[in-house]
Amino acid sequence: MNEARPHVKESIVMMKRISILAGAILALVLAVPAQTIDFSKKALQSERSRSYDALHYRIKLKLDLDRKSFDGETTVTLSSLRDGLEACVLDAEELSVASVISDYGAPLKFEQSAKELKVFLPRPFKFGETTSFTCFYGGHDPQQGLKFAAETPDNPQLVFSDSFPDNVHHWFPCFDYPNDKVTNELIVSVKSGLKVAANGRLDSVVEDKATGTVTYHWSQDLPHSTYLIFFAAAPYVVVQDSYKTLPVNYWVYPQDAAKVKATYGKTPKMIEFFNRIYGYDYPWQKYDQVSVPSGGGAESTSATAMTQRIMVDEKGEPDFSAIGIVSHELAHQWWGDLITLRSWAHTWLNESFGTYSDYLYHRFEKGEDEGALNLQGKLNSYLREAKTRYIRPIVSDRYDKPGDMFDAHTYPKGARVLHMLRSLLGDEAFFKTLSHFLHRYAFDAVDTADFIRSVKTVTGQNLDWFFDQWLFKPGHPVFEVRSDWDAAAKVVRLKVAQVQDFSRGVPVFRVPVSIKLVAPGKTDIRKVWIKEREETFEFPLEAKPLLVRFDENNLLIKEITFPKERDELLYQLAHDDVIGRMGAAGELLAFREDTRTAEGLIGSVKSDPFWAVRKSSLEALAQLKAKNGPAALKGACQDPDPQVRAAALVALGDLKDRKFIDLYKGLFQKDASYRVQAEALRALGKTGDPAVIPFLRQSASVPSHQNMVKRAAETAIKQLEAK
Ligand SMILES: [Zn+2]
Repeated sequence: MNEARPHVKESIVMMKRISILAGAILALVLAVPAQTIDFSKKALQSERSRSYDALHYRIKLKLDLDRKSFDGETTVTLSSLRDGLEACVLDAEELSVASVISDYGAPLKFEQSAKELKVFLPRPFKFGETTSFTCFYGGHDPQQGLKFAAETPDNPQLVFSDSFPDNVHHWFPCFDYPNDKVTNELIVSVKSGLKVAANGRLDSVVEDKATGTVTYHWSQDLPHSTYLIFFAAAPYVVVQDSYKTLPVNYWVYPQDAAKVKATYGKTPKMIEFFNRIYGYDYPWQKYDQVSVPSGGGAESTSATAMTQRIMVDEKGEPDFSAIGIVSHELAHQWWGDLITLRSWAHTWLNESFGTYSDYLYHRFEKGEDEGALNLQGKLNSYLREAKTRYIRPIVSDRYDKPGDMFDAHTYPKGARVLHMLRSLLGDEAFFKTLSHFLHRYAFDAVDTADFIRSVKTVTGQNLDWFFDQWLFKPGHPVFEVRSDWDAAAKVVRLKVAQVQDFSRGVPVFRVPVSIKLVAPGKTDIRKVWIKEREETFEFPLEAKPLLVRFDENNLLIKEITFPKERDELLYQLAHDDVIGRMGAAGELLAFREDTRTAEGLIGSVKSDPFWAVRKSSLEALAQLKAKNGPAALKGACQDPDPQVRAAALVALGDLKDRKFIDLYKGLFQKDASYRVQAEALRALGKTGDPAVIPFLRQSASVPSHQNMVKRAAETAIKQLEAK
């Protein structure tokens, strides 16, 4: 869930933010500005107690989409968790309960308040005794939990449940907390012509010609948490796919059928990948991905609700790939659905694992450099939140509502914590631990202690110190690093200070760090442990190093300032790994008057093998106002990567030079990327030449991903007409 969209699970905004930041030059900012939110002042929460164990919900719904109303009939089967259970209190909001009857047909007394339904059982029940009763109720246009959507240009008229994280009780009475796992049936009647997607196995589809309705009966017969119960009804086109014998289906709006392959086509490959790395085969009967109008994805068991906005065609796929959100939501079928956070304090067990999984797939699909960039984007996303909003422990029982926990601490910071844990344990021990954790707690609810115990069981290692600083304490190390070459002693002296604000429980961090020392013809990696606020390390070396690289494999969650000379940065720009090269491009701006800086950046723009480095160098170059800069930017408009071409157009456009008008028009007409086409139109707008307006008007009609070309044309026209 994203804070800006309280009813949306995975925000696509967050996904986009991550990819935008991934391309940004690593910011090297020391100061922690004023923080606006103090998590320690939020309400103290604890896991909810239960007096009964809900076992099964049989939910019958008759939905009227035109009236936005429904009639419901839910049979609750439960087992008493105490002697003498006389009443069952269920969560129920926005429901009008008409009657409740026992399993033998007798009416039961009940009381309804704004948030609860209290059902008086026919007699006191003993510990372990089972009973069931049926509630009859109705609802109209609920504010939460169930959404009736009118037809728009983007979606047909439809209804879908939007229960995450604790709003399922707005459409049936239940114990709405994730520590209770249940099986369920959903028997949903809607007007004929609609298809109903839901969890589990489809038992029957029955048409009733007399009433013009169709009834879908779905059964989820493996236990899962209540908030994962889901259905959606729309005139879906169901595109069938599979992984071995597992049905994999894509439920999309009719207008999106042609986009299924580019959007979802890698799903079976992802299932195969996750089966292998988690050491636990996909646990459910099928996997559906179901289009809904909301702004993100929500991992309901075996039926992920996915925003329609991820649908992309072949042309748009390279720029707007859905593999991040598709792999993330799929990973939740293990992390979140098979095992589920016991309370919202432990949200990282769902979200950090889901976010780390989308990195793992990204790395597998696109290779090491793209993987490193993905992890860097996750770090930047966390640092932005830490520096502009707040810091908090990842595992925390301080929150006002569950949604508070769905932030850049839980998603990207937690993912980076798992990445550090993996490096500490080694790949074999790390992935064996994940597999053990899944097998040991399958179909159960878990907390952080369960995970820490799994690490100990599998590896024998007590890493309490690691979890303490990274999960239970806030913040991250902010390093000031200085390196000196002592020519007489032939020693590199590395001074490392931790200068974070130590108030609010931020610790002095204990971390292993790899230092890369590059001398002519020789590269050394030295591993040191940093444990103090200030430490100095000495590395004997035969000659002055060309490059000293701190945290050479980019493992740590950190901020750093590490001043370097021009020549060292130029060497780093040409020779380091992608994160080091991108960082050097930005840091070279400290030598902006130096002609060698422009030469180095231009060389990188022209010939670096990785697109994100070329883009970082291009963006740094654009800030230099170097004499030969525009020519290099113009050349970059022909770069093989669309993100570099788009960045070149942004920078070139900012020059507001009319001599590039024909270049922009040509790029718009022939470029294979919607993103580049849109940027070419924006660049035309920036020229200030009203003569391009007819061209822009004509271009606006070109179809594109989410109408981005049309929107760019309109922005440019507005800009020119305002003159
Ligand atoms: Zn997620």
